[in-house]
Amino acid sequence: MIVVMKKGAPADAVQEMAARVEELGMKAHVIVGTERTVVAAVGRESEADRQTLSSYPDVEQVVAILAPYKIASLETKPEPTVVRAGSLTIGGGIVGVIAGPCSVEGPEHIIEAAKLVKAAGATALRGGAFKPRTSPYSFQGLKEDGLKMLAAARDETGLAVVTEVMSPQDVPLVAKYADVLQVGARNMQNYTLLEAVGESRTPVLLKRGPSATAEEFLLAAEYILNRGNSNVILCERGIRTFESHTRFTLPLAMVPYLKERTHLPVVVDPSHGTGVASLVPSMCLAAIAAGADGLAIEVHQNPPKAMSDGPQSLTPAIFADTMKRCRKIADAVGMTLGG
Ligand code: PEP
Ligand code: MN
Repeated sequence: MIVVMKKGAPADAVQEMAARVEELGMKAHVIVGTERTVVAAVGRESEADRQTLSSYPDVEQVVAILAPYKIASLETKPEPTVVRAGSLTIGGGIVGVIAGPCSVEGPEHIIEAAKLVKAAGATALRGGAFKPRTSPYSFQGLKEDGLKMLAAARDETGLAVVTEVMSPQDVPLVAKYADVLQVGARNMQNYTLLEAVGESRTPVLLKRGPSATAEEFLLAAEYILNRGNSNVILCERGIRTFESHTRFTLPLAMVPYLKERTHLPVVVDPSHGTGVASLVPSMCLAAIAAGADGLAIEVHQNPPKAMSDGPQSLTPAIFADTMKRCRKIADAVGMTLGG
């Protein structure tokens, strides 16, 4: 349930309410909005608890949250969440652009990639140092050396770094270098990892599992929020279907669908979503038109030579052209590309 505090309720009354919620055996999350402050009470609740909490003088009303995901729900927080991480802003009318190679391949390569994507309009640099590969024989990433290269590219360009963390024990290490922790599609239901990134205070980009439903996706985000990390970005990256003309099927209806249910920003990854570079620019435009708060795009200086995901990577020139076209679409739908 959510306890809606009266407009102008003093901070100590909010704190007292949070303490009372915890005393009743629920977890309290204080959400300060522009219009009102609410205390989300998550856990087992009863009618008696609802009545107890309603009787406090600074309480406007106590309402049940119908959605199974409580903190992620728009019922709990009607204002959109804006996630800021260094140069990257996502949400609140700003379309963030996360671009770069699938994998960090070497120090000069990632710095050059960072400069190229920045010049074309990217607001964050992506690149995997820990790579979840389908085959154990494929390139697995440069691990901590790769993280150091990403940090050097950030120093050189000022771009925030978005990079994947694959296991709970690596969260402190990756968070030391990253501005945003990416939880990959294969790990969307790795609950110990979700809890570990939830304990961190570094923003999280959560990718949808290729066979996860919208509700499972939102409940995965809820795991992170429930541990106190409120900076969660949802990323639609395509799902597995019977269709084989693309690597995955990119369901863009997920963007408005999620936005009807959650305040969390929604990013689209058309690179993994299609697996085909020639389809990526159109899907970038369509994602923005559908209301996406950001894009995650793979860009490589020489896609045929990429160590992973070359076929879906844009060249820097095509990426630059795509950004110009995206800017026009963003303007048309009242959003700002990049910020
Ligand atoms: C990636 O971003 O390179 C990646 C591995 O993505 P996903 O987890 O969506 O497959
Ligand atoms: Mn990739």
